[in-house]
Amino acid sequence: MRATSVHEDVIVVESRVWRTTATVVRSGSEAFLIDSPVFPDELELLPALLEQANFPFSGLIATHGDWDHLLGRLAFPGAALGVAETTAARLRAHPGAAQRSLRDFDERNYLTRPAPLALGSVEALPVPGYCGLGERELELHPAAGHTVDGMAIWIPWAAVLVCGDYLSPVEIPTPETSIDGYLATLARLEPLVDRADWVVPGHGGPLEANAARAVLHEDRDYLDRLRDGRSSGSALPPGRRDAEQRRLHDCNLARIRAADGP
Ligand SMILES: [Zn+2]
Repeated sequence: MRATSVHEDVIVVESRVWRTTATVVRSGSEAFLIDSPVFPDELELLPALLEQANFPFSGLIATHGDWDHLLGRLAFPGAALGVAETTAARLRAHPGAAQRSLRDFDERNYLTRPAPLALGSVEALPVPGYCGLGERELELHPAAGHTVDGMAIWIPWAAVLVCGDYLSPVEIPTPETSIDGYLATLARLEPLVDRADWVVPGHGGPLEANAARAVLHEDRDYLDRLRDGRSSGSALPPGRRDAEQRRLHDCNLARIRAADGP
């Protein structure tokens, strides 16, 4: 697990699997962990890492309800978890789904964990809106399209955008809910990227603003072609054309065909 300090109040850690990121943000005597690394040893290291960096842990936030971003309670049992209202609704509608996906992943990879995942008290945060941290506030922006739920988090005093599963330099867009919704989220993220020093995508990163802007343009181009049926394997963005990305692309095509009906 790699840890990078992008601002005196912001540390990004990157998991060894899928380059999944988690971000710790501090204000005064409080610090939130946004999303989570995945492997048991990475989660186990987090409390000591925060303590050494003098980030006094106070709560968890998740950008969206995909299981690989929800594991913070394995590092900080008993902590409250803040999520967008849309994510709280998704978790309520599918109780146990995150736990089942985690169990599948662990069984495939022969992993054991000291305790099962319990999401505990999930607090629904209004989005768009603000979330207090110490003497400051995080800005919460809606970010649906990849999934039905989610939010991007803007850290104003650090000029850092934590955007969940968008703007990834390692993974093509996977519009599981809607291509138009995904494009609308990219349009909302664009002015934030323009103001950002750093952008932290859910997989791969952190990225400097110019690199994030390049990913945004590539993703918009890819989605435009996908929506207009002009998409082939060669339409994949440069640097994201390996076998796994082609598999994700095939899933995107299959989803469109299923939506169009027989
Ligand atoms: Zn993810």
